[in-house]
Amino acid sequence: MVTGRAYIRKVRYGVQLAFLLFTLYIGYEFYQFVLHFKSPGHPFVERPSSVDAFLPISGLMSLKYFLSTGIVEPIHPAAFVMFVAILAVSLLMKKGFCGWICPISTLSQYFWMGGRKLFGRNFKMANYADTALRSMKYILMALFLLLIGVAMKPNMMVLFFMTDYYVTADVRTMNVFAEMSAITFWVLIFLSVFSLLYKNFWCRYLCPYGALLGILSRFGLVKIARNEEKCIHCHSCTRACPSLLDVEQKEVVNSPECIGCLTCVSSCPSPGALDVSLKTGKNRRVLKPYLYPVALILFFYLVIGAGMAAGKWQSRIPYEEYKRIIPEIYKK
Ligand code: SF4
Ligand code: SF4
Repeated sequence: MVTGRAYIRKVRYGVQLAFLLFTLYIGYEFYQFVLHFKSPGHPFVERPSSVDAFLPISGLMSLKYFLSTGIVEPIHPAAFVMFVAILAVSLLMKKGFCGWICPISTLSQYFWMGGRKLFGRNFKMANYADTALRSMKYILMALFLLLIGVAMKPNMMVLFFMTDYYVTADVRTMNVFAEMSAITFWVLIFLSVFSLLYKNFWCRYLCPYGALLGILSRFGLVKIARNEEKCIHCHSCTRACPSLLDVEQKEVVNSPECIGCLTCVSSCPSPGALDVSLKTGKNRRVLKPYLYPVALILFFYLVIGAGMAAGKWQSRIPYEEYKRIIPEIYKK
């Protein structure tokens, strides 16, 4: 059913596509940067700092290091800035990063949409399997937090930051895909098949980053809220929710699985029954749906802009150092 707020779904698809294309562009630029050092004669291209978004473990280490010492490590500072930006938006704006910005979540969505076209529907795990599998992302998250957040001491981190391995963590991450091993290939095939069958397979069951953001999002003030008096119990919201939440039965959606996609809001045919709301004291104030992505993206770039303004964006690795280390990676 088309509602007055159906536009928000289209806006989201547009925003997701824009971020996905931007990510591909960054990946291409970074590949050109690496080629310059790998293949003599290839023109030099500036390293795009945003590529550090693909180093969330560096981001976590940098955050711990920053909290312990007050220093932002200078090798991959953008990893720190983006990690903080993503945690901050999740704290304030639910898991909107997953629902609107993250290119992996977008690809995941394309897969299940493709699967729905292919098989006429998406499949649903039995409840016990779904619960057991969902715990995997929390187990992975706990492992990372324990190993990096607790066990790794700042003096150990400094030693690691100085290694060639850490300096080229971005190149090595790219090579996981650019120079794919048989194991990576089969893992990707496995994930692709399951992503066709099940909605958001990677995000729902395996992504430790999403698990962390989900926990933070529970403390946020912005939520999806349902008004029982206006609700006509048409089931549209529950049916539309890609996170499989029973929105129709909730007063306020508090689940860490909610990605703030607003698909439920855009599907609701009853004006005033389902809205984005902001908690103000004991009350909830209804927000226009379009304000959610606007605030989300503005806040995300505000934090990144603050990092840039503080000089914590560009890596301090000199050209000569890349010239020494990158060819080493490709020596067989
Ligand atoms: S509850 Fe609404 S906003 Fe949250 S994931 Fe489901 S459809 Fe998206
Ligand atoms: S909140 Fe809206 S979409 Fe959900 S059941 Fe009620 S009327 Fe239907």
